[in-house]
Amino acid sequence: ETPVVIGSIGELLVEFVCAEKGGRNLVAAPYIGPFPSGAPGIFIDQAARIAASFGGRAVFAGAVGDDAFGRVVLDRLVADGVDPGLIRVVPGVPTGSAFVSYNDDGSRDFVFNIGHSAAARMPGLDEIAAGFLAAGISVLHISGSMLGDVAMRATGLALCERLVDQGVAISIDPNIRAELISDAGYIGALQRIIAMAGYVLPSDADADVLWPEQAFDAWSARLLAGAAQVVVLKRGDQGCIGRDAGGIVDLAAHRVSVLDPTGAGDCFCATLVTLLAAGQALPDALARANAAGALAVQKLGPMEGNSGLAEIDALKG
Ligand code: ATP
Ligand code: MG
Repeated sequence: ETPVVIGSIGELLVEFVCAEKGGRNLVAAPYIGPFPSGAPGIFIDQAARIAASFGGRAVFAGAVGDDAFGRVVLDRLVADGVDPGLIRVVPGVPTGSAFVSYNDDGSRDFVFNIGHSAAARMPGLDEIAAGFLAAGISVLHISGSMLGDVAMRATGLALCERLVDQGVAISIDPNIRAELISDAGYIGALQRIIAMAGYVLPSDADADVLWPEQAFDAWSARLLAGAAQVVVLKRGDQGCIGRDAGGIVDLAAHRVSVLDPTGAGDCFCATLVTLLAAGQALPDALARANAAGALAVQKLGPMEGNSGLAEIDALKG
């Protein structure tokens, strides 16, 4: 197992979780927060925790406002070991935010403030690419949630193209949020990144949008015949299915009580990708990711359920 450096980019947010169900963010109710969040922020926080076990590192490119919410996010990432060298603190623009409200059927509604917030004021493409290459990243992880904003999308896509040419593996979690599909370019950008990605990590809901009516066997085989080395389907309380050249690994979910499922996917992806990049085989890395996701849903707040290897292995057994 060799030291790894994991990179990611995208929206850094604070998140507020509605304490009552069914209001769809339309009804006055208590909200709990600010929690540090943003899908790529959750990912990089967990990647830093896991990488630390192997002498590795995690670096992030993004931006927060020069305000209290920005400190909530930045302080957490730094405390957990993320290299903040490419995180800008932007004066005069508030930190990005998300508000989530759950429904009784488990669905959820979001209100995002990304494009007009500091979250979208990331460093420029050249600065990020140079910084990531100087840091020696072996994996660049993209969460599809950053593709909603047109400028962030252009930077993300160009960065993937540039780094893949330098031998960096791309990891993509489509992470499709209906609230973020601002225009027709969103799905096309996602598909272009999927086509160049070594790790393709959709959820059931993502797969329904990207490959409707197709079985996992079919679309995963197609991806593996292309650039993908590992394909994983995240299935919430149904567990996960992973596939690489060695075959298919199908894992049931751990039986846990769910307090707040948001962020489980990001935590799962970070655990998986960091362990794979460190040289672990898919069955081992997937079992740990499956346990990390189960730990994540038990905590209120999207990043609060992130964990280290000791905790993960205690649940995994
Ligand atoms: P999000 O986008 O909200 O972060 P996601 O839809 O990308 O999540 P999920 O499939 O919800 O991802 O969760 C990722 C993984 O976490 C699952 O594949 C599973 O291993 C674990 N997990 C999620 N929900 C549960 C649950 N209720 N019980 C046990 N494990 C779970
Ligand atoms: Mg997700």
